[in-house]
Amino acid sequence: MAQILDGKAHADRMLEVVRTSVEARISAGLRAPCLAVVLVGENPASQVYVKNKVAACIRTGIRSLERFLPETTSSSTLLATILQLNEAPDVDGILVQLPLPKPLDAKAIVQRIDPAKDVDGLHPLNQGLLFQGQKGLRPCTPNAVMNMLKAYGVVMQGKRAVVLGRSEIVGKPMALMLLEEQATVTIAHSRTLDLPALCREADILVAAMGQPGLVEGSWIKPGAVVVDVGINRVEKLGLGERIFAKDPKKLETLKAKGSVLCGDVRYGEAFEVAGAITPVPGGVGPLTIAGLLMNTLQACEARG
Ligand code: NDP
Repeated sequence: MAQILDGKAHADRMLEVVRTSVEARISAGLRAPCLAVVLVGENPASQVYVKNKVAACIRTGIRSLERFLPETTSSSTLLATILQLNEAPDVDGILVQLPLPKPLDAKAIVQRIDPAKDVDGLHPLNQGLLFQGQKGLRPCTPNAVMNMLKAYGVVMQGKRAVVLGRSEIVGKPMALMLLEEQATVTIAHSRTLDLPALCREADILVAAMGQPGLVEGSWIKPGAVVVDVGINRVEKLGLGERIFAKDPKKLETLKAKGSVLCGDVRYGEAFEVAGAITPVPGGVGPLTIAGLLMNTLQACEARG
């Protein structure tokens, strides 16, 4: 049976570190860090994410500044908002909630954020610094996952790590961070051949594909550390019956409520084989927000 890597508890500890650091700044006569969150349109999931980020700011004493723009916002209006936030001396972090409504080009927008305020770590300069192993603002999810793995004493040096997914926000930076910790890293994606065999080699397996329950228990090396980044909503009973065969509570919830959240890994099956595993929900999700606030504090301190 696996040890549960409790992302929620670790996120609480990270937020407490942020809170006490903010408190210390204020006691020293400095201003509180400020995070600006830009939301374009009314995507319900994005609205929830923004609400949770603002709530976490309040909890830690970080000031939040929300900019809600209509769905029809033009690229030039959004850019003008970004440039104004870049110039604002009391704004330390700028987060543009993704995805952006069409036809806005997220990459082009993110490139216009001042890299010193790029708390999502998506600006090419920050990604370049990560590539070179230099200090900079790093993508929140993989950065916070690394923070948790270290806190749990997971040994990475010399281990085989497999990262499933190659996005710029999770997969690629996760792989670079594991490499930095001396793991031997393989990145897999939708064209990778024989994923099960590759996964079976992994001492550390990170799943970030957005594919509900794709990773079966039999794909996992006994004793492996499994980090499940995926967050998926399952509504189809047939799929649920297949992937929740060893997760009766999830199946019950699906039947009772018509939908249930799960990761990319079949938790019930993996739990029997892995050495340690993150649940979904309560694993990587809460860590991401904690990582964002850590980055906001870091940006504030770096800007002096
Ligand atoms: P993307 O859609 O940007 O990337 C998904 C990656 O998975 C791609 O590289 C894709 O390959 C790969 N992939 C998809 N299907 C398969 C497959 N069948 N076999 C192998 N590889 C596959 O997603 P994100 O990286 O943004 O997010 C991944 C998941 O993590 C999502 O569920 C998302 O909701 C979740 N997430 C969770 C966060 C949290 O806080 N817990 C934060 C961010 C994301 P290819 O490149 O070839 O298309």
